Amino acid sequence: MKSVDLLVIGLGPGGGSAAAKAAAGGLNVLAVDRRQVIGEPVQCAEFIPNPMGAYARAHPVRLQSITGMQSILPSGAAHASDFPGLMIDRAEFDRAIARTAQDHGAELWTASRLTRLLPEERIATIRRNGQEQPVHYRALVAADGPHSTVATWLGLAPLATVNTRQYTVPLTQPLDDTIIWLSDDYPGGYAWLFPRGAVANLGLGLDPRLQPDLKAPLERLHRRLVAQGRVGSEVVRRTGGAIPVGGLRRRLHQGCIVFVGDAAGLTHPITGAGIAAAVVSGEHAGDAAVAFLHGDPAALAEYEEDMRDQFGPALARAVERRRDLQPLWHTPAAEQDATQRRGWIAFNEYFEAASA
Ligand SMILES: Cc1cc2nc3c(=O)[nH]c(=O)nc-3n(C[C@H](O)[C@H](O)[C@H](O)COP(=O)(O)OP(=O)(O)OC[C@H]3O[C@@H](n4cnc5c(N)ncnc54)[C@H](O)[C@@H]3O)c2cc1C
Repeated sequence: MKSVDLLVIGLGPGGGSAAAKAAAGGLNVLAVDRRQVIGEPVQCAEFIPNPMGAYARAHPVRLQSITGMQSILPSGAAHASDFPGLMIDRAEFDRAIARTAQDHGAELWTASRLTRLLPEERIATIRRNGQEQPVHYRALVAADGPHSTVATWLGLAPLATVNTRQYTVPLTQPLDDTIIWLSDDYPGGYAWLFPRGAVANLGLGLDPRLQPDLKAPLERLHRRLVAQGRVGSEVVRRTGGAIPVGGLRRRLHQGCIVFVGDAAGLTHPITGAGIAAAVVSGEHAGDAAVAFLHGDPAALAEYEEDMRDQFGPALARAVERRRDLQPLWHTPAAEQDATQRRGWIAFNEYFEAASA
């Protein structure tokens, strides 16, 4: 049986970052992903905040700069805010991180899916090339996204998620802001237009319990922007995916298994942003695995404490805002600007609102 120090499940930004740090710290690392090609298909609007820029230096990861965000309220009023960042080629971003892991000595397996986990024995089964390959690990990083298979094998509850749908469409003129639409057309979420050079990612995320059909509202928004002459009618790429919106898991580690990124519930429940948190948590978890396997029994608990300190308050506020808004969707209140202002990070009311 193959035996490794650290097994990483998932090679998104969380898993790649964990593998890179752990391998740099001297561990024998195997990282696996069920995808044939790391990063593909892209399931992302591809915006990162400026502090993540250091990870997007290499060509062709960086696509364009973003200066601000325009938030459009139900009345049509537009609110401009500073929200600088970068648009990236997300597949190249994920691959650049995975390459760093490989350069540090991590072994990467693609088209390799975790199918079974025996946590007591520390044995994972990976389906690869049609064969079931058992792998013995000393520690494991669960970086396997919103529907974590590792969590399922540990008997943990699934994370609450919103569904998304996104088209990449031609832009008729250059844009250096992100645009957000807030209204009852997008219950439990919002719609976005994020420019990436000559094209833009036009998408929406919705609470599936309130609005299971994502296609109709996205087509409506697309038609409206075409009629306004802002985007072309062609759809050059279609994607979607789930975004965790329930906040942090109750525990971020169990025995020698540690959760990072979306699998940990670190994605922001209001904005859906999770790339930065995946990289930060992945790197911390990789370092924690090194310390743990070099004899520090508290290292994984300290990782959990660090993540709660760093992300907990913002995630808790976002969960609370979702809870406040929940009963208002599909009522006249959801079409009032004041309601949407309390539920969106660009407005002071978001940071002041008291729980109903
Ligand atoms: C439509 C959409 C738009 C988004 N836009 C943005 C944005 O603009 N900015 C932002 O910051 N965030 C955005 N997000 C969120 C962001 O994409 C995630 O937070 C981020 O990908 C989390 O990284 P991760 O490494 O934790 O998980 P993921 O990137 O989801 O990686 C998990 C990996 O695990 C693999 N995997 C899963 N199960 C198994 C298994 N059983 N065996 C082997 N491999 C497995 C998957 O193939 C995948 O590669 C968006 C999400 C969606 C869906």
